[in-house]
Amino acid sequence: MLGPVILAASRSDRMRRLISAAPVTKQVVDRFIPGETVDDIIPVVKDLTDRGLEVTLDVVGEDTTRPEQAGAARDAYLELIDRLKELELGERAEVSVKLSLFGQALPGGHELALTNVRPVVEAAAAIGTTVTLDAEDHTTLDSMFAIHDELRRDVPQTGCVIQAYLFRTEADARRLAANGSRVRLVKGAYREPASVAFQQKTEIDRAYVRVLKILMEGEGYPMIGSHDPRIISIAQELAHRAQRKLDEYEFQMLYGIRGEEHLRLAAEGHRMRVYTAYGTDWYGYFMRRLAEKPANLRFFVRSMLTR
Ligand code: FAD
Repeated sequence: MLGPVILAASRSDRMRRLISAAPVTKQVVDRFIPGETVDDIIPVVKDLTDRGLEVTLDVVGEDTTRPEQAGAARDAYLELIDRLKELELGERAEVSVKLSLFGQALPGGHELALTNVRPVVEAAAAIGTTVTLDAEDHTTLDSMFAIHDELRRDVPQTGCVIQAYLFRTEADARRLAANGSRVRLVKGAYREPASVAFQQKTEIDRAYVRVLKILMEGEGYPMIGSHDPRIISIAQELAHRAQRKLDEYEFQMLYGIRGEEHLRLAAEGHRMRVYTAYGTDWYGYFMRRLAEKPANLRFFVRSMLTR
């Protein structure tokens, strides 16, 4: 019940100011966002990869309102990729981007986002790694998929995310599976209306399995973005049935959530990638993590009260 309220708050500027300024928030935020700068995050990348995990890095931020912010976001990613080059991890450290951070919602935003993201995709390819386009709310997806198609002309390994809760996703999965894309499948983290998305957890979970089956049987590279133990064991079964080898799909989870499961899957020989966000504009990302699990909110509120 609380999830939709928190997701509504995640889009409120008043709540953003209030929560961002709360003195203990930073401590709680660190569980999900282990750094503010590229200097903070490089040791985290080293630590995770030393433990047999892979990473995808996200510079937090979204809903850019000025073109210069979009340019700054591009530069932040270029700086990150430059630093990753020194680590020589190749695909073991890739990046994830939100096109709204690259200006997608501004006038002429589709072109602006494409112009800003292209150099990031090219820089990543030059160091032997990849970029995945995150999925945001449903109104942004036609533009995201068009940008994905455009980028893949020159850099075919560019990936994208699809969300099981949307009715459109089965059709998107069929198209992407047929054209050999890298696709991360997630349940979906935004507040979406009943006209476009399943609302009940059981319906979303069933849709996830249907879409995963399409991806596993297709020509692309499925990336299973979920912490759900049931989904993980179904994914293993579907991969087995589709005769996929261990390096022909991967699991992905968020930093700070089910860390022991990350290590267990890696120890079983799976590719296990940890989505690791960093930066100062953490509000939207953090609020979506609170909305996903009421216990996170309880932890957050308790830490404010016991201060
Ligand atoms: P759930 O059924 O929500 O959770 C299963 C179990 O996982 C829970 O019982 C709990 O034990 C644990 N868990 C889940 N979430 C949390 C949490 N926040 N804190 C603590 N425990 C938790 N969504 C998008 O809309 N667009 C994206 O681009 C996107 N990228 C993602 C990338 C990755 C790698 C991952 C893992 C998720 C991403 N998401 C994205 C978020 C996703 O849509 C879900 O909101 C989120 O993963 C929770 O769903 P779940 O599959 O883990 O299952």
